[in-house]
Amino acid sequence: MTLPTLTPDHALFLDIDGTLIDLAATPDAVTVPPGLPERLRQMQTRLGGALAILSGRKLADIDNLLGSGLPCAAEHGALLRDAAHNITHTAARPAEYGAWLKILNRYVAAMPGLLVEEKQFSLVLHYRRAPEHEAELRQLAEQLIAGSSDAILLPAHCAFEFKPRNGNKGDALAYFMTTPAFLNRIPIFIGDDTTDEPAIAAADRLGGHGLHVARNFGGSTDAVRDWLMTL
Ligand SMILES: [Mg+2]
Repeated sequence: MTLPTLTPDHALFLDIDGTLIDLAATPDAVTVPPGLPERLRQMQTRLGGALAILSGRKLADIDNLLGSGLPCAAEHGALLRDAAHNITHTAARPAEYGAWLKILNRYVAAMPGLLVEEKQFSLVLHYRRAPEHEAELRQLAEQLIAGSSDAILLPAHCAFEFKPRNGNKGDALAYFMTTPAFLNRIPIFIGDDTTDEPAIAAADRLGGHGLHVARNFGGSTDAVRDWLMTL
């Protein structure tokens, strides 16, 4: 598939990790390319405000990485912040959150290289620095999630995320498309992970383009950023 030509009448939705910036050993270890936050701000202006970030990260992380205030869906869409900075929650913290945190922290203490990320609505067990434990950790994660009615397990790049059943990036994209800055535009979304597939499908369904970093950009975040420069 050839890439669409990016024009000012598009609405642009972007994942962060593995899309705008390269993945790193831990979520805190990523490097933001120089000028990226400023470039996103310029693009937001060129697009009449119709640019939003759809990320699995916490809201505070998104603001720390890209500068504060962009419209965004944080934590895979559990929390939405519109262009006027109004915040909507589309999910609640799973009832088992505290119990899971205790159990996961015991594994972290016993297995060097593991990391538990505490978000507002989700817990993430990262094992990028301990990939040899993947099978055991998958078994643990599936065991823990089996008893929960309001949470699901989201396997990601070297991580297992325990997230609320409600809220996904596809619903977030569809929500933004009903808000003033995005209305009647052609949506383009770029993502790299299984968690991005609902937004890829939503962009296609709404008459736009759901793009994938591996399938459409040769797996390169440089190629994504170069393409963004064509606006
Ligand atoms: Mg990603």
